[in-house]
Amino acid sequence: MSYPVPNSLSPSRVGAFTSCPMAFRFSSIERLPEPPSVAATKGSLVHRALELLYTYPTSERTEGSARVALDQAETEYRSDPEFTLLFLDSAADRAFFDDAWTLVQSYFRMEDPTTVRDIGLELRLEAPVAGLTLRGIIDRLDLDDQGGLVVNDYKTGRAPSPQYQQKSLSGVHFYSFLCESVLGRTPVSIRLLYLRGGDIITATPTEQSVRFITTRATAVWKAIEKACVTGEFRPNQGPLCNSCSFRAWCPAFGGDPARAAIEAPLALARLGAGE
Ligand code: SF4
Repeated sequence: MSYPVPNSLSPSRVGAFTSCPMAFRFSSIERLPEPPSVAATKGSLVHRALELLYTYPTSERTEGSARVALDQAETEYRSDPEFTLLFLDSAADRAFFDDAWTLVQSYFRMEDPTTVRDIGLELRLEAPVAGLTLRGIIDRLDLDDQGGLVVNDYKTGRAPSPQYQQKSLSGVHFYSFLCESVLGRTPVSIRLLYLRGGDIITATPTEQSVRFITTRATAVWKAIEKACVTGEFRPNQGPLCNSCSFRAWCPAFGGDPARAAIEAPLALARLGAGE
């Protein structure tokens, strides 16, 4: 069976395909619904709170404003299926929002937002490359003291160990390519802000790192195209299987992928009905 070939790629899609082609088929090709996870929903909530914080005038980006921003984000998320389908009891609910606040407070120990010269929040950029569109959303784009572009990406997990740092930066190098294509300027630095431990990993984009992104994205896209034409999406067993939403239909665990299109939406509907 063949599948329609996607015509756009984001850093997360590149990462998803290289981690497990089978899971990529379920999520990005068949677009099967997945139940939310505490970690992902909390990450989205904290991103939203920091986005709201940066809508305040520069001098008012205080911890007090951040508290108001998180409260507003909480109000938005309380009715969102991404949160309601977590079915948190009152203790877990309190722990969820307390931890989100801890992450927002941690941000204030990493940098002073009253000194940041931001020029874009949740910036959606896209650029054509070899017949496909590369797209991504930059959490925050700043200017440094010399007027250079700085790409910032918030992470709500812990920073990776040194040997995995380059891999974690591939997504932001992707954003530096988009800046160069769309804004005509390569960022002077890209930063990953790990709110859980307060670490900041910084890299300087080079001509080589930007070129590598287009080469890699094109290679991954060709592999996706081939998989879509042949219908062969290989399962790649690893630690991610423990949290994979599609394990019940994964052939590596005795499942039938053909049943997923019918059963995954039913499973989510049952979850929504509280069964
Ligand atoms: S269970 Fe593992 S191998 Fe199977 S689709 Fe999920 S991540 Fe891939």
